[in-house]
Amino acid sequence: MAPRTSRAIVQTAPRRLELRELPLPDIDDESALLRVEACGICGSDAEQYAGVLPVTLPLVPGHEPLGVIERIGDRAARRWGVDVGDRVAVEALIPCGHCHVCRDGRYQLCRGRGMMFGHGYVPLARAPGLWGAYADYMYLDPFSIVHRIQHDLPASLAVMFNPLGAGFRWAVELPETRPGDRVLVLGPGQRGLASVIAARAAGADTIIVTGLARDARKLALARELGADHTIDVEHEDVRVRVRELTDGRGADVVVEVSANAAEPVAEALHYAAPGGRVVLAGVKGFKAVPDFVSDLAVVKEITIRGAFGVTARAYEAAIRLIESGRVPLARMHTHDFPLTDAERAIRTLAGEEPGESSIHSCVVP
Ligand SMILES: [Zn+2]
Ligand SMILES: [Zn+2]
Repeated sequence: MAPRTSRAIVQTAPRRLELRELPLPDIDDESALLRVEACGICGSDAEQYAGVLPVTLPLVPGHEPLGVIERIGDRAARRWGVDVGDRVAVEALIPCGHCHVCRDGRYQLCRGRGMMFGHGYVPLARAPGLWGAYADYMYLDPFSIVHRIQHDLPASLAVMFNPLGAGFRWAVELPETRPGDRVLVLGPGQRGLASVIAARAAGADTIIVTGLARDARKLALARELGADHTIDVEHEDVRVRVRELTDGRGADVVVEVSANAAEPVAEALHYAAPGGRVVLAGVKGFKAVPDFVSDLAVVKEITIRGAFGVTARAYEAAIRLIESGRVPLARMHTHDFPLTDAERAIRTLAGEEPGESSIHSCVVP
């Protein structure tokens, strides 16, 4: 008999998660039900857990869903081009389809349904409640965006569409990275490593990654995944090293994906080549950036781009790369956690579990 309820992790307050049994939604002509196979976790999960995101609790977290279509309305099946049994990657954001950015084709900036309207962020009080992927099943809204992905891949790899999609958007699409470009990635976390993979796929000539001394393992992994050089910012002079490694020119593309530290934002202008493109994607808790010398951007005609969301095009590039098996992505995957260990999953990601260090991890219901 078909199940009528789904296990789900519900966040009721900052740092409080509980396992509940929620009713499965009715699926109409335009919506669908996803059986969740895996949900990737990232820094946003840790921020949400800590209570620093502007969301209304209680809610079911989980914004990087991978799963199989369990039920789908006829009209949704036609519009989305998927059917029962198809495996899909689901985009976090659920756009409105009508606002000026949606009409302009930049739906990743849509706030038409409110700030942070997306899978993993919508309150439980809003029917049908199962909006997040820390659950056995998740509701798919008429405006949810899904991408078909091959079945014959482990779920823990297929679910990397999310960080890899960010890599393609932030390190390739936005800075228009071309073959021969010298790309510098500031920060070796999952987004930094994804940027390395994407820049390599785009034909970048030299890829350099920076990190702290304690990131030695991640920097070694960056080299395995395609970086030519890595720099330990605590023991090396980054400005000097970047100059040496780029024939004195500087980096054509700088991707800033370090967490919390504001200094790399100011430093990025020193590392960029004349005409260089700097993409800012690491969030800093809304801190100001000290020692930001804007004249460097002026005299070098540097383009500075902020990056927040990911586009369907970048997700598709990520999915094709995952399916190709060309990159040893499994090396990035460190942890699978059962649903009942969601709290430990987040704490591990946040570095709060002694002796554990994670790069890419996911919750597997
Ligand atoms: Zn995420
Ligand atoms: Zn919109």
